[in-house]
Amino acid sequence: MSNNQIQLFDTKSRKLQIVESSDGKSLRIYSCGPTVYRDAHVGNMRTFLLGDLITRLAKHSGYQVKFIQNITDVGHMSEDFVEDKILAQAKAEAKDPYEVAKFYESRFHQDLKSLNINAADLYPKASGCIPLMHDLIKKLIDTDHAYVGSDNCVYFSAQSYQGYGAISGNRLDALKPGHNFEYTEGGAKKFHADWALWKAAAGRTQMIWDSPWGPGFPGWHIECSAMSLHYLDEFVDIHLGGIDLRFPHHENERAQSNSSINNEAVALWVHGEHLLFEGRKMAKSTGNVVLVSDLISKHLDPLSLRLCFLENRYRSQMDLSWDSLKAAHLLIQRWRDKTATWAKDKSLDKKQAQGFIDEISADFSADLDTPRALQKLRSIEKAQTLSDGVKYEIFKCVDDLFGLDLLKPSLGKGELTSDAQSLFDQRQIARNKGDFTESDRLRGLLLKVGVVVRDSKDGQSWEWLI
Ligand code: AMP
Ligand code: ZN
Repeated sequence: MSNNQIQLFDTKSRKLQIVESSDGKSLRIYSCGPTVYRDAHVGNMRTFLLGDLITRLAKHSGYQVKFIQNITDVGHMSEDFVEDKILAQAKAEAKDPYEVAKFYESRFHQDLKSLNINAADLYPKASGCIPLMHDLIKKLIDTDHAYVGSDNCVYFSAQSYQGYGAISGNRLDALKPGHNFEYTEGGAKKFHADWALWKAAAGRTQMIWDSPWGPGFPGWHIECSAMSLHYLDEFVDIHLGGIDLRFPHHENERAQSNSSINNEAVALWVHGEHLLFEGRKMAKSTGNVVLVSDLISKHLDPLSLRLCFLENRYRSQMDLSWDSLKAAHLLIQRWRDKTATWAKDKSLDKKQAQGFIDEISADFSADLDTPRALQKLRSIEKAQTLSDGVKYEIFKCVDDLFGLDLLKPSLGKGELTSDAQSLFDQRQIARNKGDFTESDRLRGLLLKVGVVVRDSKDGQSWEWLI
C-alpha cells in the first residue's frame, strides 16, 4: 500500500484534481463501455485500459473500489443518424440482434483478459436496465427537465439545465442547429439542442419495449445516467471515457444526472486521448482497424499492446505501429528472462527496494505518468549498484500496477504448428542430402506461414516472423 495522493486531470475544471472517495468508504468509478456490434479495436482497448490502471492504482493506494462499466446493446445510433448500430449489424449478419450483441460482448471480455484488464464489479447491459431508464425519464418529466414531443419521443430540455456545456465548452447559445446529429421529425423538439431520452418505435419492430409513452427504445445518453446513478448510489467519484465522448455524450449525461439529483453527480471527468495506427485515425469506416486477435495471430504477446499504451501518457494522442509492438514484445520477454535470473539472488535490502517501489507508485499517482514509471524500470534493470535480489523485489511489487506479468516465464519461441514442424523437418532432410533447391523451396513455404528459418554452423533454427 502507498500513501500517495492520486491526482487525475479533470476535463471539466481543466485542472489536476485529487482523487477522493466521497462517501469515505469506496471509490466509485464508472466507465462508458463498448457498443457490442463489432470487435473492439485496439483504440477502444486503450480507453478501456484507463479504468484498469486507475482501479489498480486505487487498490494499491489502499482504496476499496466499486467499478461499473456498461455494455451498450441497444440505443446507440450510427452516424447516419437513422439506424441502431446493433440492428444494422444484425441485418448484415442475418442474425438476431441479441445474438450479435452477446457474441461481441463475450469477445470484448476475452480481449480484456488478453490485456490483463481486470474485470469491473459489474457490466450492466442497456437492454437489462430499461425499467431504470423509465424511472429516471419519469422523474425528469415530473421536474420539467423533459417533455413528450409531438412524435411521441421523450426529449430532454437542454435549456432546463443551467450548467450545460461545462465539460466540453459547448454552451447552448453557441451551438448551431444541426450539431445534434439525431434524426427527429421536423418540429417534434422544442429546441434544436434537445435530445431524445426515449424514442418512439415508429416502424421499428426489434429491440423495443413498452413504456408509459408508448413502445420504443432508449436513447444512448440516458443509459449511462441511469446505470451510474443506480449502481453507484447516486454519485460517481471518477467517470471515464474516450475523448470523443466529451460531447455530446458526457455533456448530455451530466445534464440528465445533475437534473435528477439536483446536484453535481460526478466529481471527476477523466478522458483518454485517441489512438492512431501508423499515423492514421483508427476507425472502421477508413479500414484502419487493428484487433487484439491480430496481434495474437502475429505471435505477439498481447501484453506488448499494454506496454505500448503505458509508454504514452493517457492524455496524449499516440501513434501505434507494428514496429513499436514488436519492440514491446521483445522488451517484455527480456524483462521476464531477467526476473527469472534475479529471483535466484535471495539477498534483499528491503528498504532500498521500497524506495524505488514508492517512486514508481508516485509516478502512477501523478496523473498516471506511466512513461516516467517505465523509464525507472529501465534504469533499475541496468543499475550496477542494485543487487539482483533488490531488482527482483521491485519488479515483483510494481507489477500489480503495470499488469505486464513480469514474473511469468518468457514466451520464448513457443512451438511450431504440426504442419510447420513437418516442413521444418523435411528441410533438415533436404539439407542433409545437399538438396539446396528443395531446402530453399521449403524455406519459402515456411515463410508463408510466418516462420523465418536461419542457417548457421549449428544447423537450421527458426523464429516467428513478427
Ligand atoms: P464504442 O464501442 O464505439 O462506443 O467506443 C468505446 C470506447 O472507445 C469509447 O470510450 C470511445 O471514446 C473509445 N474510442 C473510440 N475510438 C478510439 C480510439 N481510436 N482511441 C481511443 N479510444 C477510442
Ligand atoms: Zn456512457
